[in-house]
Amino acid sequence: MLLERAYAKINLTLDVLGRRPDGYHEVDMVMQSIDLSDLVWLDKRYDGRIVLETSAAHIPTDDRNLCVQAAKVFFRHTGIQSGVHINLEKNIPVAAGLAGGSSDAAAVLRGLNRLFGTERSLGEIAEMAAEIGSDVPFCVYGGTAIAQGRGERLTHIPHQCQMQVLLIHPRMFVSTGEIYQALEPGDFVSHTTSLVMKEALQKQDVDAIPKLVANRLQRVTFSLYPEVAQLADKVETVTRTRVHMSGSGPTLFCLAPTVQQANRMYNALRGIMRDVYMTHFVTNPPVGG
Ligand code: ATP
Repeated sequence: MLLERAYAKINLTLDVLGRRPDGYHEVDMVMQSIDLSDLVWLDKRYDGRIVLETSAAHIPTDDRNLCVQAAKVFFRHTGIQSGVHINLEKNIPVAAGLAGGSSDAAAVLRGLNRLFGTERSLGEIAEMAAEIGSDVPFCVYGGTAIAQGRGERLTHIPHQCQMQVLLIHPRMFVSTGEIYQALEPGDFVSHTTSLVMKEALQKQDVDAIPKLVANRLQRVTFSLYPEVAQLADKVETVTRTRVHMSGSGPTLFCLAPTVQQANRMYNALRGIMRDVYMTHFVTNPPVGG
């Protein structure tokens, strides 16, 4: 039995350049892993079956689950004829803009590589990952990266900047596809913001970073789900801190340079937030672990 952690991500920037002929959108974004993780336990099965077990509600356990898809891709690429038992402990909110499913799939690929001693490099695993979904290659590496193309083309950003991330999740689901479909030409940009963010991260400029966070999907999510926009207003008023949205939402987050500041924001919000999952994490968990 082997354990692999699947870390959630937030978007520090998310620019959409346009719609591509293949139906995907051309994006340019800075992805950042945070220390919130699902636990993926893997064990060989000798009956050739891929079996997923989870106590989490609201996710499929059949072929629609990205973990099952990842196991199939791994066995196809490596030619290994085996089965696997996957036990998935979900901690990352589902359909929340935190890439939970993508990260689980990446953890399955990394974990099977260890379980079967196949010694594929992370680069080779990331190629398998691109067959499963646009965010899965980033999740194979974790850390911080600029993701371009449909999200699968990565440039890693080495940096030492640690930040506290207060996550605020309004216990509801938002479909990523629905948000991308509702984008209008005015949401597309020709200038991207990822390089400026990269510089700020490398300079460890914790004052500049929250001001540079931007997400071109926010307009659509806020207009289709006004309750998310109202929640963002409330959080901003109470914490007097900028509030950002991760991915296609609905998860919101605030950045703080220290644990003490994150605790202050958390305590200010705790009493007035109803039906909201709220907790804080640090950026830069161990890569690939
Ligand atoms: P992204 O940020 O990449 O758009 P997300 O965090 O918004 O993703 P997920 O939590 O990955 O969304 O879930 C999206 C959908 O994928 C869910 O509605 C769920 O039915 C399906 N799904 C498949 N596999 C998983 C998994 N292992 N964990 C969670 N959801 C999964």
